[in-house]
Amino acid sequence: MKKIGVGVLGATGAVGQRFIDLLEDHPWFYVKFVFASEKNEGKKYKDAVIWKVSAKVPKSVSLLPILKCDPKSSPVKIVFSALDSTVAGEIEENFARKGCIVVSNSKNHRNDKYVPLLVPEVNPEHLGLIELQKNDLKSKGFIVTNPNCTTVGLSMVLKPLNDAFGVKKAIVTTMQALSGAGYPGVSSMDSLDNVVPFIGGEEEKVEKEPLKILGTLSKKGIVLSKISIDAHCNRVTVRDGHLETLTIEFDKKPSMVEVLSVLKNFKALPQKLKLPSAPLSPIVPREEDDRPQPVLDRNEGNGMSVVVGRIRKSNIFDIRLSLLVHNTIRGAAGCAILNAELLYKKNYL
Ligand code: NAP
Repeated sequence: MKKIGVGVLGATGAVGQRFIDLLEDHPWFYVKFVFASEKNEGKKYKDAVIWKVSAKVPKSVSLLPILKCDPKSSPVKIVFSALDSTVAGEIEENFARKGCIVVSNSKNHRNDKYVPLLVPEVNPEHLGLIELQKNDLKSKGFIVTNPNCTTVGLSMVLKPLNDAFGVKKAIVTTMQALSGAGYPGVSSMDSLDNVVPFIGGEEEKVEKEPLKILGTLSKKGIVLSKISIDAHCNRVTVRDGHLETLTIEFDKKPSMVEVLSVLKNFKALPQKLKLPSAPLSPIVPREEDDRPQPVLDRNEGNGMSVVVGRIRKSNIFDIRLSLLVHNTIRGAAGCAILNAELLYKKNYL
């Protein structure tokens, strides 16, 4: 097949670099345009980026000029957005109004009434919002978002458990990697030898976004899930990979074996459709006492699987467990690419 040329907005940042890396040799897409801030406009990509991915800057992208984030500067059908949230809102809307499909990581449009907040394994039916959005924008273009990085892992674990046992309440405590704050992110003086028990706006996102993701599509938008979530978010000195501990209360009372079996056997639409970025197993359970660990487990399923472990009984609710999500892959660029693959397979492109 002829590959589809895509643009990457915010191509120089922590998530933007992941897009560039993950899109190299993608079977359906190739990077045609790269966009960043005005200070880098006109520079070659390799000279504008402070490259932090272990693979080299792909040759096909290294000499591309950085473009201004203006839909007129480059006609393209689809853009991935890894823009800083201070500017993402307006820029993404401009692209969508000009007929472009915007697949975004930024928080700005996640809670818009007709914008899908999508994790393909969890709520692919929310693509049904797109027609409502197109009518609203009066454009062929539209915006699809993926959730906050912490929420992606959390919602992937809550989904099969909610379907099987009905989740009532959840308490989640996070230990979030430094790369989640972008580059250069948290200063070394603040992060080394330390844990910071506050990440601005994060707890609100982790408590709110799963309710939309696990909500039900109606003719007027999404009816939010009624699960109650308490989040405690901490920044720790890990480079990549958010570890989360989760305690859950259910409607039904499952055994630990049933919980393990539901998580282990979870498969969803991306696996059925064999989307190129879909991991074979969306959730990979580890039975050792001391797993998952960021340094050992974050690249499971090419960084696209969520690793769970320490499934045990709770003294207060029903069960507790630990989960790990690679924040810049499954929690950001990888999830967005999977969203675009689903859009392609469902004939939205
Ligand atoms: P980052 O490293 O700070 O990168 C920000 C990007 O936005 C850079 O490419 C930057 O370009 C561009 N930018 C900044 N100001 C701009 C302007 N005025 N006009 C045009 N472009 C501008 O941030 P990040 O961590 O990659 O995060 C990107 C987005 O994804 C954010 O909205 C973030 O909340 C979200 N997100 C991040 C993660 C994660 O794990 N890091 C996970 C999920 C979602 P220059 O290099 O030219 O300044």
